[in-house]
Amino acid sequence: MSGLTLENVAKSYGAVVAVRDVNLHLPDGQFVCFLGPSGCGKTTLLRLIAGLEKPSRGRILLDDEDITDTPAHKRNFGMVFQSLALFPHMTVGENVGYSLRIRKTHKAARRQRARELLDLVKLSGLIDRHISQLSGGQQQRVAMARALAIEPRLFLLDEPLSALDAKLREDMQLELRMLQQRLTVTTILVTHDQREAMTMSDLVVVMGPDNRVHQMDSPLEIYRNPADTFVADFIGTSNLLDGISSGSRAVTIGDTRLEVADLPDGMTPDTKVTVSVRPEEIHVLPGVEKGDNRMHGRVSFVRDVGSSVEIYLDCNGLQIVSQSTPKGRPAVQQGDQATAVLPPAACVVLKS
Ligand code: ATP
Repeated sequence: MSGLTLENVAKSYGAVVAVRDVNLHLPDGQFVCFLGPSGCGKTTLLRLIAGLEKPSRGRILLDDEDITDTPAHKRNFGMVFQSLALFPHMTVGENVGYSLRIRKTHKAARRQRARELLDLVKLSGLIDRHISQLSGGQQQRVAMARALAIEPRLFLLDEPLSALDAKLREDMQLELRMLQQRLTVTTILVTHDQREAMTMSDLVVVMGPDNRVHQMDSPLEIYRNPADTFVADFIGTSNLLDGISSGSRAVTIGDTRLEVADLPDGMTPDTKVTVSVRPEEIHVLPGVEKGDNRMHGRVSFVRDVGSSVEIYLDCNGLQIVSQSTPKGRPAVQQGDQATAVLPPAACVVLKS
């Protein structure tokens, strides 16, 4: 099977478990993000793949070949770190051609390749500049060009954009994604920024505070069908409602019966569950309406940020947040009685 496979990969440093039992297959040509909160093991997992760390357990395979014990410099992977680690005493061209020099590529060929890569990362004409004469964004591009010079089998990036200001960061995200699509190189980006992960990736690997992988899926699938309460809470905003399953496709939350999209396989009635409902799926109506998939309460807060409106409802101590476009703004004010309608298709049941 072509691509990168991790089988039961784990890494501990003494008593600290950095990565727990990871099983993954990353197909070729994909843009993959490792996403999760600080300390969940994203960097360690990337370093294990790069060969900079050895797993305590498990195997790493590339195109079915076991590379667990292959040293980093023999893996032919390109890497960019947050620190960039450019050589300040060298020119841009010398930095980009550095790994080719190590591989004893002829000087003229190195320069030609550096030129091609600098064109690719939009730095044409800067080949003889010194690193100190470049802006942060330009240095970022040099680091990428340098990592790509060897035509890597995998392109590995550890939070390379986190030091850039917000606007430049967004520009670079787009450029990096387009560069990857042009080169079709399998790319893994470590980030703790969910927006970055959700907008750039073909696949997102969500890691949790227990240092395990909780879900690997397309961004849309992760958003729509989070695997568990951690993913639902970590990705975007979600209403997480605790309840009890009550027969097929229904959950009871307090005294409200919710028809739901589906119950997880094998779930029996009277099981504790959590229902995840995204705020933009909830409609708010003025006044009290009773019935299935309806919860009523008092509007505790209205937050209007121009591009969207959020309505917070206090339903007997349970907070429900809905989100709408300015045009679809519900006709309610703070203090009003209102009803939240939770459509069955938007009610995703997670095991508690
Ligand atoms: P961040 O987003 O903050 O960079 P991360 O998800 O990349 O975090 P890692 O850097 O992989 O997390 O660290 C995972 C866990 O392993 C943490 O508890 C960290 O303190 C620990 N750890 C990582 N490297 C080492 C090391 N060399 N020695 C001891 N503990 C380590």
